[in-house]
Order: sequence, then structure tokens, then C-alpha cells
Amino acid sequence: MVESPFASFEELEREALACTKCPLATQGRSQVVFGDGDPAADLVFVGEGPGAEEDKQGIPFVGRAGRLLTGLITDIGLRRDEVYIANVVKCRPPGNRDPLPDEIEACRPYLEGQLGFIHPAVVVTLGNFATKLLLETKDGITKLRGREFPLHGLGVLIPTLHPSAVLRSGGTALAQSRADFVRVKRALRRVSAERASAGDESG
Ligand code: URA
Ligand code: SF4
Repeated sequence: MVESPFASFEELEREALACTKCPLATQGRSQVVFGDGDPAADLVFVGEGPGAEEDKQGIPFVGRAGRLLTGLITDIGLRRDEVYIANVVKCRPPGNRDPLPDEIEACRPYLEGQLGFIHPAVVVTLGNFATKLLLETKDGITKLRGREFPLHGLGVLIPTLHPSAVLRSGGTALAQSRADFVRVKRALRRVSAERASAGDESG
């Protein structure tokens, strides 16, 4: 595993919450939205960046898209507090614009730190930004969704549609999300079992 510049998950969170490393620090954020859930989770979701409601509450995925995400998680038999949810950028881009390359790059150590400490069996990237960042690909989400990719030899990454995109496009997209989540559930079972039989307790 890559050596982390942070001594602990708590130190990582403390540093992120006080971060002013990129322009999003001064473009109207009311707080840094670090992440939510179980830091020992086997399953991690990575979105794009906080929206208005997330910025207000300090918790990722609590608006409309968040309700859809929470529903998809409970539909595969998990509780939201059993997984971990984070974003590519931790501060709200003004007017929900796309995060810029420099902002994504500046924020990247926090996401990598989160994944390094959590050591999940399965990472689900929600939409293009998280998928392109973590898979280092230029391929789009419609091509990649629902497939499994090795994640630096640790567990697997499965891209799926961003819940905001699903809300915009409706029927078919929702069916595709549900299908992807079924694959996530299967991968989670398989990778967790593989790890258990390999005696890997480092999560
Ligand atoms: N969309 C995201 O990508 N992340 C959130 O936290 C909320 C909406
Ligand atoms: Fe720091 Fe990330 Fe917020 Fe930019 S988006 S200020 S890098 S926490």
C-alpha cells in the first residue's frame, strides 16, 4: 500500500476540515464535507462534490441524489451507516459547477488517504469524475459502468451512474443503477470472502 502522509484517519479528517489548498476554500463553501459512515467499511462510494444541502449539513449525499443513493444501498440489504461515502472534492463548487482539474488534484490526497485507511473490498465510483480519477481513464461512465476493475491490487472498483444523472434521465438509468448495485453486492461478498480466507485483517 502507498505510504500515507497522514498518521491516522482522525488526523486526515482534522487536516481536511481546515483545508484551504484550492480555490474552492474561498468560493462560498460553508464547511468542508469530509465523508460519512463507517471508516472500517468494506464498501465505499465516491461521488463528485458536495451540493447545497451537503454544504449546509456537512454530510455527503443528503439531498435528492443522496436519498436515491441511500435507497439503492438499502435495496441491496445494507444500511447507510455500514458503508462509507465520500466525494472527489470536499468543498462545494459554486452553483454546483464541475470541479476543475486543479481542484481535483489538490483534493486528491484526502480521498486517497480515506481509501488507504479504510482499505475497502469494493469501491463504487459514482459518475465520471470519480471514475476518471480513480481508474485514470478517459473512458466515459456509460462504457465503464457495472464492470469490475482491480484497484491497485486491493479489492475492486465498480463504476456506476451518478445518482443526479439517474434523477435527470429516469427509467432506463435507474434500472441500470439497480443492476450495477446487484453486481456490487456480489463483488462485496466475493472479495470479502477471499480476504477472510487469506487471513487479511488489515481493513
Ligand atoms: N452529488 C455528489 O457528487 N456528492 C454529494 O455529496 C451530493 C451530490
Ligand atoms: Fe481543500 Fe479539497 Fe476543499 Fe480544495 S476542495 S479547499 S483541496 S478540502
